Amino acid sequence: MARYTGAVCRLCRREGQKLFLKGERCYSEKCAIAKRPTVPGQHGNGRKKVSEYGLQLRAKQKARRYYGVLENQFSSYFAQAERKPGMAGENLLRILESRLDNVVYRIGFASSRKEARQLVRHGHYTLNGKKANIPSIQLKAGDEVAVSSSSRQSEKIKAVVEANSARPVPKWLDVNREQLTAKVVELPNREDIDLDVAEHLIVELYSK
Ligand code: SF4
Repeated sequence: MARYTGAVCRLCRREGQKLFLKGERCYSEKCAIAKRPTVPGQHGNGRKKVSEYGLQLRAKQKARRYYGVLENQFSSYFAQAERKPGMAGENLLRILESRLDNVVYRIGFASSRKEARQLVRHGHYTLNGKKANIPSIQLKAGDEVAVSSSSRQSEKIKAVVEANSARPVPKWLDVNREQLTAKVVELPNREDIDLDVAEHLIVELYSK
């Protein structure tokens, strides 16, 4: 399935919650979901009771859109999550959180996951001292992300880091803003992940 190119705020309104797809605007009063928290479309407010399948589908779509992952990749993450010990739903969220683009966003080195993906692709970050330009790389405990030496003087990177310096960083990540580095202390548990989604619905959807 192709990447969605429409108005991203519609996606938040469709899912009924902020998915933080637009960077700084998401934290301001200009956020569309704060101004108009209705489902988009002509019949947005008059929807009928949602079926069990509908709930499962919405849960999957919400998680997929939150992390900006395409359908095929999402289902392959689920297959990977099922093979790991523990709960498949929690494993799935942990895999999504451990992506390099998500980590770059979480540590405040990008304003959104979309921007993080773009900056990673342009080679602005290193992983364990080596250039890393694949946004989907999965990090593990002990890994270190840094702004690459060639990007440290970039006005754009400085501005992005400065603009996101007040955003809270989850405790599984340890960021050093002076050094422009961050370390994965441990992979997150479910309670460390702030996505409001019932992941068991995603498991049920894929288990059909
Ligand atoms: Fe979603 Fe951000 Fe748009 Fe608000 S501003 S609706 S959080 S993409």
